[in-house]
Amino acid sequence: MTQSLERLVTESAKTLAPTFTGLKCRECGEMYEATAKHVCEDVCFGPLEVAYDYDAIRQRVSRSTIQAGPLSIWRYKEFLPVSTDDVIDVGTGMTPLVRANRLARRLGLKELYIKNDAVNMPTLSFKDRVVSVALTRARELGFTTVSCASTGNLANSTAAIAAHAGLDCCVFIPSDLEAGKVLGTLIYGPTVMAVHGNYDQVNRLCSEVANSYGWGFVNINLRPYYSEGSKTLGFEVAEQLGWRLPDHVVAPLASGSLFTKIYKGFQEFTKVGLVEGKDVRFSGAQAEGCSPIAQAFRDGRDFVSPVKPSTIAKSIAIGNPADGIYALDIARKTNGNIESVTDAEIVEGMKLLAETEGIFTETAGGTTIAVLKKLAEAGKIDPDECTVAYITGNGLKTQEAVQGYIGEPLTIEPKLDSFERALERARTLDRLEWQQVLV
Ligand SMILES: *Cc1c(COP(=O)(O)O)cnc(C)c1O
Ligand SMILES: [Zn+2]
Repeated sequence: MTQSLERLVTESAKTLAPTFTGLKCRECGEMYEATAKHVCEDVCFGPLEVAYDYDAIRQRVSRSTIQAGPLSIWRYKEFLPVSTDDVIDVGTGMTPLVRANRLARRLGLKELYIKNDAVNMPTLSFKDRVVSVALTRARELGFTTVSCASTGNLANSTAAIAAHAGLDCCVFIPSDLEAGKVLGTLIYGPTVMAVHGNYDQVNRLCSEVANSYGWGFVNINLRPYYSEGSKTLGFEVAEQLGWRLPDHVVAPLASGSLFTKIYKGFQEFTKVGLVEGKDVRFSGAQAEGCSPIAQAFRDGRDFVSPVKPSTIAKSIAIGNPADGIYALDIARKTNGNIESVTDAEIVEGMKLLAETEGIFTETAGGTTIAVLKKLAEAGKIDPDECTVAYITGNGLKTQEAVQGYIGEPLTIEPKLDSFERALERARTLDRLEWQQVLV
């Protein structure tokens, strides 16, 4: 190819129309322009979702174009609702998919993987995915101030990525969050509003602010764009499994968004022919102290009754989940389950994952592992199923949760005999006695 022809081809690639066509109401199908809008305000007040031209995507992407792309969520750009090439890429995504053989053996499973977003970039949770997409779109739509209603991780991510992109940032959190989550927001220099109230009250306040301040709230007026970022959790697993879908996934539920978007991601990859279609089972995890979706599942209801959260799993403590009914529907139609576990089981789940796989997750991940264990023990995961558990956040941010449950270092003098005495003592105590000593 001559140089000028090459340039022509690159230039025309740049001016390709975006693959997304607008926003579509999930309930009535009404179409809207792709602006900062999240409800079907002309017809039924249902939630809006990004719509795509899948023929255009099919023509533009293949396994090899994706593999030649950046090592971040932006390798799937054609499936994401942004038109600019100037995306905010801080290395988000392409986190490890770890074959978890030791944990699998403990649970009586044969093929288990951990999708490890505890090491996502830049702020060590899956929220970096949704925020990278939302802020790229926010900038494209002309917003200069961005915001969010957060249970902790979203504030970390919005503050960090806004800092990188040079956007002004004001975030809202419940005032009782873990110290690590608060510090992990403040360091990036945003304005932080700590609200006396739970997440659902924070969210309601933010809806009012969003209506009157002209800010881009990633999970309110930008929510349709934000939530698309979670599809990359599905895309990456399919690619990392060698372009195939797993049999069963287990993921945590807060608003229910990420759960429904992993499903959408698998559907889209199938639709454009990147993977062979398969009936993947979807199982969801909640903390008993905030389990409105699990309760609805158990009761056979198709509506979700709001609850008042009380659990150590604060990052998933949403009492009135926006996507709850869609998550319920997916769990039911895929022959999955939605289970809840106690705070004590969540701590055990965190320890189990750390001790078997060397992965330190936060309380949300502890919830997922505890539910995985519960489902495996109840025979609700077949030992032969290729199962993926999604670990969505990092344990260093919720240290309070495990304090007092994990033992202490043996403090010794810098002398060999002191070490030997301590070692002797350590040997005579098995782990159980250990904990009794510490209580
Ligand atoms: C926000 C969050 C979730 C759940 O997100 P939804 O999409 O609202 O269901 C899960 N895990 C962690 C660590 C989170 O921060
Ligand atoms: Zn509608």
